[in-house]
This record gives sequence, structure tokens and C-alpha cells, in this order.
Amino acid sequence: MKERKSEARGFAPPSGDMSAEDFRSFGREVVDWIADYFEHIEERPVLARVEPGELKAKLPSSAPASGESMSEILADVDKLIAPALTHWNHPMFFALFATSSSAPGIFGEMLSAAFDVKAMLWRTSPASTELEEVALSWLRQMMNLPEEFDGIIYDTASVSSMHAIAAAREMVDLRIREDGMSGRTDLPLLRVYASEQAHSSIEKGIITLGLGQRSLVKLPTDAEYRMDARALRQAIEDDRRAGALPFCVVATVGTTSTTSIDPVEEIAAVCEREKLWLHVDAAYAGSAAVVPELQHIMRGCERADSIVTNPHKWLFTPFDLSVLYSRRMDVLKRAFSLVPEYLRTSEAETVRNQMDYGVQLGRRFRALKLWMVLRYFGREGLSARILEHCRLARLFASWVEESHDWEMLAPVPLSLVCFRYHPQREDESVATSEAELDALNEAIMNNVNATGRAYLSHTKLHDKLTLRLSIGNIRTTEEHIRRVWELLNEEAKTMNK
Ligand SMILES: *Cc1c(COP(=O)(O)O)cnc(C)c1O
Repeated sequence: MKERKSEARGFAPPSGDMSAEDFRSFGREVVDWIADYFEHIEERPVLARVEPGELKAKLPSSAPASGESMSEILADVDKLIAPALTHWNHPMFFALFATSSSAPGIFGEMLSAAFDVKAMLWRTSPASTELEEVALSWLRQMMNLPEEFDGIIYDTASVSSMHAIAAAREMVDLRIREDGMSGRTDLPLLRVYASEQAHSSIEKGIITLGLGQRSLVKLPTDAEYRMDARALRQAIEDDRRAGALPFCVVATVGTTSTTSIDPVEEIAAVCEREKLWLHVDAAYAGSAAVVPELQHIMRGCERADSIVTNPHKWLFTPFDLSVLYSRRMDVLKRAFSLVPEYLRTSEAETVRNQMDYGVQLGRRFRALKLWMVLRYFGREGLSARILEHCRLARLFASWVEESHDWEMLAPVPLSLVCFRYHPQREDESVATSEAELDALNEAIMNNVNATGRAYLSHTKLHDKLTLRLSIGNIRTTEEHIRRVWELLNEEAKTMNK
């Protein structure tokens, strides 16, 4: 970046921020840098080409005593920080769940940093409190969820789900809020049920809440990795007979390994009969519900007590922004509200004070970026992009299916493809062992990733090392899908020589 002669650097204490003039000019420079970054992102390797400790070694071990110039700082972002990034916004990022920010979302983040509000009480941030209600009501309508669902924004799904499980526990009349769980001999074993494919955040939430890992029952799944609702019924029955206390079931719509969809209608029926809280983890797949043609994936979710969806996953909203919808906000409030004298306000009865609904007191103005994304793309713009990602995933899957040397390992309900290399030998007596296939696929993945041209990750399905191609980046096009397919085939051929 340009050196600036006029810049007031290391300005004299004791007060003041950067001058308005410098703010304008550096602000423009940063926006230009970001625009260039997006325009040329494909020239960068997707995975950071750095060794552990490499960036740290290039940076001073303590902060400067006197201020430095903004030009120098920004030059270091360009020279040192950017090369040490793994580029999540790169269109060839297919690992984990591919996600991306978008221009309106980035502007929302910029403005939110400028406002820097702490939305604890309505009074401390009326705009943030009310815009959150509006944006979440819009999103709820787009997802076709019933009006009884009210929403709240947290940072991540892990935190949303933890709050949902805490609310579920609050429904059990055991005075846990008041008396805790330690030192008590009067408590039964409390039980939460989820499938073995459920996200690890559910178990972490359970650990955080002091329930202990043994509270979680991991239920088996069917051939398509969906929770077995009969096994759920049986487990609850067995637990009750043994004196345990079931209180919560977590169904997943769009599991992390394969995006499988649990049979929520059947699970909801069990929960209604057994009077258990039903939480639905739709962190990734919930975004697909803004597409009318895909709303069927949420069938049964209208009967849930709470649902988590992450606009930061597949709704082009910069990290972080997770939404918890619940028809029982009153219970969430009962679990978390604690109002010290200095936070008492006269309007508490008539407004929502967001601090009442979770662990955090002050909260970032996250709704702004979501509202800007929803407005800028509109329901149709968001739908079209998500549908295109699903089309690209089916296209890639069709290539895998048509190929003799590759095979599919799970269905493709949305935009994730689970597959592996499995070459057909001419001499069929030379069967390739599972261990060899695992090693071969791992090597192909590592080699593809090492080219810097694409980034894929893996999972294990029925003990088979499975490659995952996740499509969710706003910049990914058919051309990118073709390129990664070629790359995979090139590496496979080299490996299999
Ligand atoms: C990504 C994901 C999570 C975790 O999301 P965070 O927001 O990173 O906590 C939880 N559940 C599912 C199904 C996910 O795909």
C-alpha cells in the first residue's frame, strides 16, 4: 500500500483516534484491497502454504511502545497475514462445509464495528434489538416456519444448541438452576438422545452444562445415516425402566458427515408422546429451507421446540451468526435471566432485553449483516444460489457414478458429495483391500490439497475413508467443479500407476 506523507502517526497522547481524513483515505484503501482480494483470490493457494510457527516467527514478540503508521500495518497484512490464510472465500474451497461471505454481509460487519453497540438491554441498543427481531422474522417466514417460533442470534451453532439443551433441562422440575447438580444424591441420570451422526457440538454442550458425557445416548442410524426412530423409542423405554430421566432429543437435518436428514416427523411424534424437548440441528441445511423446492427437508420441524440454523454456513453471511428459533422463549428466559440492580430498566416488561436469553450480557450487532444480505439478494437471489449449488453437487455426483474408478458413498440430498476412488482392476482376482483404498484416497486428497488449487476434506463412513466435496461458496461455478474433478482424476492416475 502507498506510503502517506500526511499521516499523523504515533499521535500524541492522551486522547483521540485516527483523524477523519486518514480514516477516509485508509478506509478506501482497505475496501480497494478487499476488492482486489476477491478479484484475484484464485491466484492464491486455497490452503495456507505455511509451516506451524512461521507467521509467529515473522512478528515482533511484544507490541510497539509508540504507535506505528497505518500504511505499515496494512502493508504487513498484505505481506505477512494474507499468505498465512487458508482462504475460505476461495471458490475451490470444498472442505468441511464450504461457506462464504458476501459484499452486503461485509458492509454489515464494517458498520457494526463502527456502531460497536452492546445489545444487552433494549435501551442500550434499540436498533440492534428490534432489527434482530425483524430479520429473524423475515428469515423464519422464508423458511416457512410457524409464527410461534421466535428467534435469537448467537455466535455459533455450538452455543445455540447448548442454550437449547439448557432450556430443555429447565423444563424438568429438578431445581437445577438453583441447586446445581453437584453434591446431589436425589438426581436421576438425565438423558439426551441424538444419532451417532450428530455434531460433536451437542456432546460439548452437554459437557458444558455439567450433565456429563454419559447423559448422551448416541443412537444407531440406517443405511442412509438417518436416526433410527424405533431405536429412539426403545432407548427411552429402557432408560425409564432403569430409573433415568429422558428430557431432550436432538434431531439433525443435514448431518456434518453426509448431510443426511433424520426422520423429524417420526421423532417429533416420539417426543410429543414422551413429553421430551425436541431440538433440531439444521446448522448447515436450514439455509436450504429458503428454497421453496427444498422446504420438504424441514418436514416435522414445525413440531420442534427449538431449531438452530447458521446463516454463516450457507446464507452468504460472514462468520459468525447462528440463529436459534424456539417456540419456548419463555423457558429460555427462565433458564438464563438474571438481572442485577444496575441493569434494571423501567421498560423491561414491554421490550425484549436480549441479555435475558443466554450466557452473554453484551452482544454484537450481528443482525445488521443478516438484514443486509436478506435485502440485497432477496429470497429469489438466495434461492437461486442455493439451488445452483445443489445442481453442481448432483452434476459432480453424476460424473462419479458414470466413472468406473470412483464410487458414491452416500446420497446427495443437498450440496455435499461423499465419494471415493475405487479403481476397477482388469484382473479381478487382485482385489484392493479396504485398508489400501483408505490409504489411496487419503493420498489423493493430500496431493490435491498440496497443489493449492483446491481443498477437500474427508470423513469415515462405515469405516471407509470418504472424500467430501462440499459446495456452498458464492463464487463457485461449474467451471470450478470441472477443475476439481480433473484434478482428482490426475492425482488418482498418478497414485495408481
Ligand atoms: C457446522 C455445524 C455445527 C457447528 O456449527 P458452529 O456454528 O461452528 O458451532 C453444528 N451442527 C451441524 C449439523 C453443523 O453442520
